[in-house]
Amino acid sequence: MEHIKSVEVRRSDPEARAEKGLGIKLFIVPDSSQSWSSMYGPEQEPNLELANEVISVAVQALGLSHRNITSTWSKTCGCPCGCSPGFELREVSAENETVIPKGLECIDIRITI
Ligand SMILES: [Zn+2]
Repeated sequence: MEHIKSVEVRRSDPEARAEKGLGIKLFIVPDSSQSWSSMYGPEQEPNLELANEVISVAVQALGLSHRNITSTWSKTCGCPCGCSPGFELREVSAENETVIPKGLECIDIRITI
């Protein structure tokens, strides 16, 4: 994983999550203008190929199975004002519903690229 510099998994404050919403929130933090432009480009939309690589690392770090995980880009992932975009990760249940994996309702993952 040549792009990835660090992976940090944190359990966030449940009270804060009452406002921000529950679930696994993945934030990709570019630490240089080069990694910023390879991740977001001029349109400020994520490069999905690179994002998928990062999502795989996040899923592995949580001990989940990649097969059952769906990700959704959200500009308001970390904050309703849009200052903290990211991916919401959810699991597809046996009933084919997307759900927050049990026990992972307040997880923040920050991956530096
Ligand atoms: Zn904000």
